[in-house]
Amino acid sequence: MSDKVEKSEAEWRAELTPEQFEILRRKGTEPAFSGELNTKKDAGVYRCAGCGAELFSSDTKFDSGTGWPSFYAPADPEAVRSEDDRSFLMHRTEVLCSSCEGHLGHVFEDGPNPTGMRYCINSAALKFEPGDE
Ligand code: FE
Repeated sequence: MSDKVEKSEAEWRAELTPEQFEILRRKGTEPAFSGELNTKKDAGVYRCAGCGAELFSSDTKFDSGTGWPSFYAPADPEAVRSEDDRSFLMHRTEVLCSSCEGHLGHVFEDGPNPTGMRYCINSAALKFEPGDE
């Protein structure tokens, strides 16, 4: 894995779009069905919009019907990390980029085979890179 990416709030604010900043650095959530990567089916890799780390592959993307890009596994188990999230009177598991600590979304245990996991990720937290995945 690449080294940790650490930047000040001002640096992130300067680099990211307001929407990316709100999601990645403020743990925001984009409205369902608003993200351009939600319905994307092309082969390729999904990188962190903050630091460029490879997070997910089109191989594991599936249509969850939730309105957010959904994957049943990360590209590499080390690429993301999870954390308990008890905000908004819910108990969820937050998913963060291991490299820059950017907030990506949440992971739920109602996904398809082979993992049964559903990584529910904000489109704005990702950058798609076409490939032959
Ligand atoms: Fe990142």
